[in-house]
Amino acid sequence: MPTTPLIDAGTIARRVAELGRAITEDYGGQDLVVVPVLKGSYMFAADLVRHIDLDVAIDFLGVRSYGNQQESSGVVQITTDLSHSIEGKHVILVEDIVDTGLTVAYLHENLATRQPASLKVASLLHKPSRTRVPVEIDYLGFTVDDVFIVGYGLDFAQKYRNLPYLAVVTDDEA
Ligand code: 5GP
Repeated sequence: MPTTPLIDAGTIARRVAELGRAITEDYGGQDLVVVPVLKGSYMFAADLVRHIDLDVAIDFLGVRSYGNQQESSGVVQITTDLSHSIEGKHVILVEDIVDTGLTVAYLHENLATRQPASLKVASLLHKPSRTRVPVEIDYLGFTVDDVFIVGYGLDFAQKYRNLPYLAVVTDDEA
């Protein structure tokens, strides 16, 4: 399926480094639990934590979102839960993209019930034109238009996650 490059690897790397530095400053030496949402955010999270100069624990959340490939239904099921308690911890939820906002809103609400000391959201991408539930993104990489994005961890039918840059799927069927 044809793809058109959107954001190159160098631009991504510079922005991710900035976000890591901001997180390092904001948390002022406190311990942190970084929670990437699988699978889309794995590459972003792997690069981001390398720019966070704090004691960082990493724990993953696996989710299944009901709906088709490109449309979130808002019904989210946690398929792999955290392996440790986050009670009393400073937590950053790491997403690949906030589209309608339904997934992050659900996960934020779920994690908040576990009484973390604080809970923030980092997302590589945001599509504000698609918002159905407004969510606060504390650390945002890039704002994008209403196009379907792949690469740098994001897939279309499980493909393209390994592209080192972000691209737009240009085929009409996508
Ligand atoms: P939301 O619940 O915010 O509508 O959707 C969030 C999830 O939908 C993302 O974590 C991602 O899995 C998927 N998604 C939304 N837009 C895109 C996109 O442009 N490209 C890809 N690959 N996934 C997307």
